[in-house]
Amino acid sequence: MRQLRIKKGKEASLLRFHPWVFSGALVHLDTIPENGEVVAVTSHTGQVLGTAHYSVGTSIALRVFVFGKAVVPDRAFWKERLGQAFAQRQQLGLPNAETNAFRLIHGEGDGLPGLILDIYGTVAVIQAHSIGMHLHREDMAAVLMEIIPGLTAVYDKSAESMHGASVANGLLIGTLPENHTVLENGFLFPVDVEKGQKTGFFLDQRDNRALLSRYTKGKKVLNAFSYTGGFSVYALQAGATEVDSVDVSRKAIDACEVTIAANNPTKGKHNAICEDVLTFLKNPMTDYDVWVIDPPAFAKNINKRHNAVQGYRRLNQLVLEAAPVGALIFTFSCSQVVDRQLFYDTIVAAAIDAKRTVQVLHHLSQPADHPVSIHHPEGSYLKGLVIRVLNAE
Ligand code: SAH
Repeated sequence: MRQLRIKKGKEASLLRFHPWVFSGALVHLDTIPENGEVVAVTSHTGQVLGTAHYSVGTSIALRVFVFGKAVVPDRAFWKERLGQAFAQRQQLGLPNAETNAFRLIHGEGDGLPGLILDIYGTVAVIQAHSIGMHLHREDMAAVLMEIIPGLTAVYDKSAESMHGASVANGLLIGTLPENHTVLENGFLFPVDVEKGQKTGFFLDQRDNRALLSRYTKGKKVLNAFSYTGGFSVYALQAGATEVDSVDVSRKAIDACEVTIAANNPTKGKHNAICEDVLTFLKNPMTDYDVWVIDPPAFAKNINKRHNAVQGYRRLNQLVLEAAPVGALIFTFSCSQVVDRQLFYDTIVAAAIDAKRTVQVLHHLSQPADHPVSIHHPEGSYLKGLVIRVLNAE
């Protein structure tokens, strides 16, 4: 295995188990490794610090997935690491009779930078964010079939996550079931892993959807940026009188109607509205008691952070101007580069601009199957607040 040396004084973050090495920290390379090559990382004195994937031409040159030794990641290696992650999900009670969709690997949080792996009942979806991880997809697929009970297919959905490298999505093993549905807290959700967004479903809102059901009995609810209607189903089942789901994607809205029908809520009226949320919020009819505002990531990288903050501020200002006194607002950001404090400050700014006083009731996050390594705080990407609007000017 090729050895790459870190410059003197640049190994501190690796010794603290932070998994990234920037290209500027590497001693000059005479020959450039292959894109995605597995390499041993050493200190300037030659001591092995770990095993990493090398990425050509990106600022993060190395992503370390084993600390302290050089290991060739063969099938046995993947069996151990994926098996360990599955045991950790079982410790959380996942999967169970009510929930069969969960995240098995959450990148750095599971010690495997560049890898997302979601289980949707009988279908696993691999989403690699680095060439290095993508090169192991066949071994991972074979191992998944061995360790996840009832699995019948493994799909590779890395085409959009590989940042420039061109790879095609496709089945690695098995066949995809038609009209595939999964269970989340007893609710049925259609999951189209091929054509749906991300890996097919937003597993990261599971706990926050459950929290919403505590507040929706007898209420009128807006689910803005609804995707397939996750929050809407919980709200209706908990006794909401009316739920409006708004999403700009026709496909998402069609799937939302299928979701609502599949769960067959006996009470409550549901409206699936295909529209831009910013246009929708200009309607005068905004007398909702409970608002869910879950936009897509406004910033994909640090250079877009300022624009993203302005986007969140404007969106939340519109919501706060329209919401009646006493309304509860579940507001979220899934932009990794907008951290918890910055998001909080942005909501404060939106409240000031909207001339409203608000109370903070809950600080929300991602569920336990999306763990965060304390050495990689960037992994804590989903932030939310539940706020109550107190006064109107
Ligand atoms: N709350 C959802 C996930 C939301 S993901 C859930 O629980 O599953 C963000 C969604 O916003 C996507 O479905 C995307 O189609 C939609 N979207 C993006 N921009 C939008 C806009 N300007 N107006 C309305 N919807 C938008």
